[in-house]
Order: sequence, then structure tokens, then C-alpha cells
Amino acid sequence: MSSVAAETDEKAGTAFPIPAGVFAETVTSVNHYTDRLFAFRMTRPQSFRFRSGEFVMIGLPNAEKPVYRAYSIASPSWDEELEFFSIKVPGGPLTEYLQKIKPGDTVLMRKKPTGTLVLDALKPGKRLFLFSTGTGIAPFASVIRDPETYEKFDQVVLTQTCRLQAELEYGRQLVDNTKSDELMSEFVGDKLLFHASATREGETRGHRVTTLIDNGKLFEDLGIAPLDPETDRAMICGSMAMLREIEGLLQARGFEEGANNKPGTYVVERAFVD
Ligand SMILES: Cc1cc2nc3c(=O)[nH]c(=O)nc-3n(C[C@H](O)[C@H](O)[C@H](O)COP(=O)(O)OP(=O)(O)OC[C@H]3O[C@@H](n4cnc5c(N)ncnc54)[C@H](O)[C@@H]3O)c2cc1C
Repeated sequence: MSSVAAETDEKAGTAFPIPAGVFAETVTSVNHYTDRLFAFRMTRPQSFRFRSGEFVMIGLPNAEKPVYRAYSIASPSWDEELEFFSIKVPGGPLTEYLQKIKPGDTVLMRKKPTGTLVLDALKPGKRLFLFSTGTGIAPFASVIRDPETYEKFDQVVLTQTCRLQAELEYGRQLVDNTKSDELMSEFVGDKLLFHASATREGETRGHRVTTLIDNGKLFEDLGIAPLDPETDRAMICGSMAMLREIEGLLQARGFEEGANNKPGTYVVERAFVD
């Protein structure tokens, strides 16, 4: 659906016109995981192109000047719909309302995707590590569903750390569905590994992902060799504190940050602004 300046959307419960110059898309499904997390899918404009791992600005037609926030696109670039994985911030200017969307409602999307968590920003390598906390898994939900990832890497290691086990459910389902998907299983084979840990529950209680990297438990659990800048590439997405800590660990092992115009051995993106 394209943007029409005078269009209004009654299903979204608003009488505000759709602003010009943005895509106005229709929600197709919503899945609530916990009282803090939900995912939704919406229609994709035919002309909208992006690279797996990029983010866009999204908003709601619930005010004359809608609030837009950055959202990683969780679906891969070949998908005919767009998927997002979202936090619910109590009183948050966008998510207070976004968490109430239903199929048929309208979501606004600015037209230009961008971001550094893209394969182009990494030098060629053998193993790809995708380190995430919370909704930071969203860009990697896109990257692990892109066949190009498995053409470029022999092994893909996705990690997600949340506070509670229930918050890991989106990632668990994502990995299971990707491995069993008719189209994707052909590319993925046994190349995709997933390490999920909760900091407030279970055997990893009290352990941040950086501890699990530092003490080697992450690699032991997965039965793989520790990080090696010669063969490994990494993407990091999470809170500012988590990014700094993992970056520190990677730099201490000889990894160098990359960018779209200068590929390196790791790339980072904040999952939200603190
Ligand atoms: C590059 C980029 C990509 C992003 N991708 C996503 C995404 O895929 N999914 C998503 O839910 N959010 C994502 N965010 C965060 C998003 O832009 C909003 O901040 C979030 O949707 C909350 O919006 P809000 O207006 O309700 O509250 P805000 O006023 O934006 O945030 C209020 C406070 O809530 C906390 N917060 C915000 N977002 C999160 C989060 N995701 N996890 C934990 N705490 C948070 C922060 O402390 C923030 O100060 C991304 C941010 C950036 C910079």
C-alpha cells in the first residue's frame, strides 16, 4: 500500500491523515511473548528494498506529528512481508501504543533503510558470530534467514542473552523454524548454532554473555573452538553496556571494527538508545 496524503485509518483507531512521503502498511499478525516483548508482521511495499540486518524508522498514525523510532527489520530481504520484534516500554512514546496493534491496523514506515549489521561490512571469514541481548536479536533474525549468510560462512553462531527464559522464546522459535523451513533448511543444513542464556534464571543465572565468552563456557556448551580473528567475524547488537563489553573482548583478541565503506572483522549496532 502506498502513502496517500488524505487517507485515514479507522482500524488503527485514529482519524489522523497518513503523512506524505512514508509507507503506510497493514499489520498481518501480532504475537505477544511476554509482558515486555512482542513481534508483528506487516505488508511490504513492492518498491521497498533493504539488506538483511538493516533498520528503518517506524511510527503510528495516531498523532498529527507521529513519533518515529528505529526498528531493525527482523525478516530477511527475500520475504514478501516485513517482521519486527519489539519491546513494550511502559509509557514509551511509541511502544505504549504499538503494543496494542492488531491485524488490519496501519503502521507507518520511513522509506530509507540503513545500518551496519550487514554482510557487506565484514571481511570474508569462516565462522560468523552474532551476539545479542534482548531485542538485539532482531537484525540477526534477518541475517540467519538470508541464504547469502550460508554461502559466505561455514558456521553461524547466534547468541541471545535475556533476563528470563520466557524472553528467549522468540529466538528459540526463530532458530527451530529456520532449520525446519523447506526453503532455508537447504542452505542452513547443520551450520546454524544457537546459544540462549538467561541472567536471572537457570544455570546461567548471574552470568552475562561476556562472562560466558571470557570463561569459555559459551564455546564448551556449543562444542566449538574459541574466537579467532583469523577465521571469525562478529556482529553485536544490544545495550550500550553490552556492546562496549563485547567490543572490549573482541579488540583484546585482535578483532577490528568494520563499516559499510571499510569492511572489518566485527560490526556493532545499538539495540536502543539508553
Ligand atoms: C538502530 C536501532 C535499532 C532498534 N531496533 C529495535 C528493534 O528492533 N526492536 C525494539 O523493540 N527496539 C528497537 N530499537 C529501540 C526503538 O527505537 C525504541 O527506543 C523502542 O521501540 C521504544 O520506543 P518508545 O518510544 O516506546 O520509548 P523510548 O523513549 O524510545 O525509550 C524509552 C527507554 O526504554 C528503553 N528501551 C528502548 N528500547 C528498548 C529495547 N529495545 N530494549 C530494552 N530497552 C529499551 C531505553 O532505556 C529508553 O531510554 C532500536 C533502536 C536503534 C537505535
